[in-house]
Amino acid sequence: MAASTAAGSVPYKMLKKTLLLYPNASFTVRRLNIGSSRYDGQLQNRTKSVPMQLEGVVGLEIHAQIQSHTKMFSGSAVNFLSPPNSLVSFFDASLPGTLPVLNKRCVEAAVMTGLALDCRINRKSLFDRKHYFYADLPAGYQITQQRRPVAVDGVLTYSLLGGKKKNRMVRKNVRVKQIQLEQDSGKSLRDDARERTLVDLNRAGVGLMELVMEPDMTCGEEAAAAVRELQLIMQALGTCQGNMSEGQLRVDANVSVHRPGEPLGVRTEVKNINSVRYLAKAIDYEIRRQTDVLRRGGRVHNETRSYDSKSGTTVPMRDKEGLQDYRFMPEPNLPPLMVYEDPASVPAGADARRTVVLQTLRAELPELPAVRRDRLVETYDILPEHSFTLLNEEGLVEYFECVLKATSREPRKVIGWVTNELLALLKQQDLNVSQSRVSPSSVAQLLELLEAGSISSTVAKQVFQEMWKQSGAKTAAEIVGEQDLSLVSDVEQLRAVCAKVVDSHPQEVRAFQAGNQNVLNKLMGSVRKETKGRADPIAVRKILLDKISETD
Ligand code: ADP
Ligand code: MG
Repeated sequence: MAASTAAGSVPYKMLKKTLLLYPNASFTVRRLNIGSSRYDGQLQNRTKSVPMQLEGVVGLEIHAQIQSHTKMFSGSAVNFLSPPNSLVSFFDASLPGTLPVLNKRCVEAAVMTGLALDCRINRKSLFDRKHYFYADLPAGYQITQQRRPVAVDGVLTYSLLGGKKKNRMVRKNVRVKQIQLEQDSGKSLRDDARERTLVDLNRAGVGLMELVMEPDMTCGEEAAAAVRELQLIMQALGTCQGNMSEGQLRVDANVSVHRPGEPLGVRTEVKNINSVRYLAKAIDYEIRRQTDVLRRGGRVHNETRSYDSKSGTTVPMRDKEGLQDYRFMPEPNLPPLMVYEDPASVPAGADARRTVVLQTLRAELPELPAVRRDRLVETYDILPEHSFTLLNEEGLVEYFECVLKATSREPRKVIGWVTNELLALLKQQDLNVSQSRVSPSSVAQLLELLEAGSISSTVAKQVFQEMWKQSGAKTAAEIVGEQDLSLVSDVEQLRAVCAKVVDSHPQEVRAFQAGNQNVLNKLMGSVRKETKGRADPIAVRKILLDKISETD
């Protein structure tokens, strides 16, 4: 077994440990940098392919556009639908002599987001210039917070289905390294017909919060769940609308693979991801790709890649191996950003319109999604999964609660009608809850019929579909009346149907008598079919059992 390194021999202790873990491996340890943690962790496989237990590592960098009427350092309006270059002040266009004026709303948004994510809010943070040359950045630099960001050391708690059977909600944490304020750039638009690039500066100077997450996640599903939770939190706070396809939330995924317990591997950064679903796909693709590269003895390059949703793959965009020099320097035109604990600590003479006070913002924090979900579970005795579904769809909680107000049925027996039946129809036609074709009160009326035992649950589902088709033109009772769907509990009538079913299923009857209880469901199904779902299942069950014992 040969082991060598470019920089000399591998320390024996380390080699022994590695070989014990991977007794069949034969490899070269590359670029081992002893004494520092920067060891790229890539083991080159020399001989036959050895299965490596590689695990993904994911760290997100998220740019969230701050929900604000005006830009971060100018009075220009923020509006995504305005004609190109119609929302550009002299400052946004970097005319000489213009100066930035900090928008308090943007600071408050970042601080509130920081508070909601349990961050430490820096009482004093600083602005810096980050230089790069690009057509949509007229100043040649972006104002950001490189040295001291506004918020640090937070945590985002999210949940996903986990456990052995993937049927239990599991809570996980990802650490938030920092939240910094910065300006958005303009947009370059390619005009292919005339082979030129046009610049729209409407977006130039819009406030952004950059959230940097620690590499605490392992797969696409986790990252997607975390981002979904962040969206809900920021929407509840009103700090960012969070729409990824419109670019209000831009998520870049840093991805690497390593053997658990060993140093992190070289990472790639994946950009151009415009939905939560694509985020999961892009990450999982990238983990598979890197795993494959390493297994085949290759090396992962430190590069930026772009996600292509059509092919579901990532493709190289640019190399990051050479360090880029942004020539960071303090922004001379902005004083340090101060945040005060309470009104008493604001210095005398400070401009109240410009001071941000933590105590005030803490008091304004709304109920966060996690708390709201717990409250729903507690109040209505529903499953945690259902509370997630309710919050994931805008307006669904309100819809559910409206139904509850108008029905005597228990919430536990109402929830499925909202999270399954209603949601399925909405999804089918790509509608929002507010566009539902059936109102909460109509659903409540339907459920009242079910609760009163006037219809079976099979019929109720049928009526629901019918109500949807007719856009609620008729009530549930009208549909039941017109189509003669009410529950048949007339014993004579049911006996006749049951007798017919028993007679035509001699095999099943014998199987039941031989101890196979399951066939009863099949027989009940046949009765249901015969009666078009109208038979009272409790009565049918009893009659069938009687009949079978009679034929004994
Ligand atoms: P840089 O200084 O190069 O920007 P940072 O330490 O700021 O690096 O990290 C940037 C992002 O990359 C963070 O979201 C972090 O979680 C993530 N990251 C860092 N190292 C790795 C890694 N080995 N694998 C995956 N993500 C990583
Ligand atoms: Mg960084």
